[in-house]
Amino acid sequence: MTDRGSASRPLRVAVVGSGPSGFYAAEALLKQKEIPVRVDMFDRLPTPYGLVRGGVAPDHQKIKSVTVVYEKIAVMPEFRFFGNVKLGRDIQAADLRRRYGQIVYAVGNESDRRLGIPGEDLAGNHSATAFVGWYNGHPDYREESFDLSCESAAVIGIGNVAMDVTRILAQDPEKLKSTDIAGYALEALRKSRIKTIYLLGRRGPAQAAYSPAEIQEIGHLESADLVVNPKEIELGDEASKAALSDLETKKNVEYAACRARLGEGSRERKVRLRFCVSPVEALGADGKVKALKLEKNALVPDGKGGVSAKGTGQYETIPAGLVFRSVGYRGIPIPGVPFDEKSGKIPNKDGRVLDSASGQVLPAEYAVGWAKRGPSGLIGTNRADSVATVKAMLEDAAKGLFKAEAPDSDPEAMPRLLLERGVRFIDFPSWKVLDKLEVENGSRQRKIREKFTRVEDMLQALKSA
Ligand code: NAP
Repeated sequence: MTDRGSASRPLRVAVVGSGPSGFYAAEALLKQKEIPVRVDMFDRLPTPYGLVRGGVAPDHQKIKSVTVVYEKIAVMPEFRFFGNVKLGRDIQAADLRRRYGQIVYAVGNESDRRLGIPGEDLAGNHSATAFVGWYNGHPDYREESFDLSCESAAVIGIGNVAMDVTRILAQDPEKLKSTDIAGYALEALRKSRIKTIYLLGRRGPAQAAYSPAEIQEIGHLESADLVVNPKEIELGDEASKAALSDLETKKNVEYAACRARLGEGSRERKVRLRFCVSPVEALGADGKVKALKLEKNALVPDGKGGVSAKGTGQYETIPAGLVFRSVGYRGIPIPGVPFDEKSGKIPNKDGRVLDSASGQVLPAEYAVGWAKRGPSGLIGTNRADSVATVKAMLEDAAKGLFKAEAPDSDPEAMPRLLLERGVRFIDFPSWKVLDKLEVENGSRQRKIREKFTRVEDMLQALKSA
């Protein structure tokens, strides 16, 4: 018999993914009083918190303190964590469908967009995602290597991820030594010979995707000058001028103008913020990127009240031995779960997952966070987003819309299945053991924490503990 959300048979919900959107969904489910609910949260890593652990930059510790809120959810008796369990590898969507009344996909966007320019596959071209994962000690990226021996690097795109990447490259590594940056990344950054970092925006300062605080943080670095070309900040079109009514846009435009007035500065390391340029080719020698060919853009009306970048046929070449594309994330398909290739999201209507083929609502399956709406917004944006999806879930539950008869709704069914399959799952108390070990390992080096960066090391440490 399937769960019906009564006191004796609480509604059992599987949340796949333990980043902010997953935890906010769990919070909204467990704090409401309408329907008794139990939440089982799955993560492919033994560690929880998604991008808060693997994405937020090590010099932004305040942002990471949001995990205190998540931990309060995780210790609720109605919540269980199953880390080191990957949907599509260890368990299948059908396994969840058989055991849970509702399923929430909080799987984020684990891949990135490509530029599609010639030379993009030359060595030395990387996704920002890989660099961010590497310095944050994410097991997927710990074996990556970045050649920091060149003098010029380029970051393509001017969103907040590009700001993080640029700041980590431009910053004095000694400022990072007490953070939770991966030890190997700190060592590599200490040996970096990068002097110039080009930050390349395809449109103007009024269209910059970064937040004022993020660009200003780069401007305040002691180790580098933020340099802006005065010729690239003029707002020549009506849409850019109209955009100044938005306070954040106004701040960004004024700050770019302020930096342009300050000129080159005297520091050896420079962050050169460029506007209205698009890389059209990565140029290399011996299979390795050496330079980027840029085309100057004009801003033309996009027909929706904004502007888009249009190449003018004027080109220049900038040196770049290391290139990061930071032009947005996208999701990766999970076997058995609907996926829209074009948008890189799980197709959904207001969080209700849609069947890929028919476009009809797939009963009792939901999406939250970036998997639902794409890679936009700050951590806090996910709270309202998850609350909205949970509202839809509760409405559906009130109407009796659950998965068809779940033959195995016994709470022990999932742990039993994992044990049968030999999946070594990590529960929340075990994560807390890892957490404590990481903090202890860090304190020996006067760091906030030294992360385990290999899943095998985490499992071994738990065995030894
Ligand atoms: P984003 O904010 O969407 O920025 C993407 C950037 O890439 C934009 O400048 C975009 O320019 C550019 N771009 C896209 N396609 C391009 C192309 N083909 N050629 C050149 N440039 C291209 O994405 P993000 O930086 O990955 O950040 C994702 C989300 O995480 C954002 O909401 C961000 O605020 C958030 N985040 C926040 C923080 C923080 O608060 N500290 C840190 C990291 C991430 P156009 O505007 O012209 O499309």
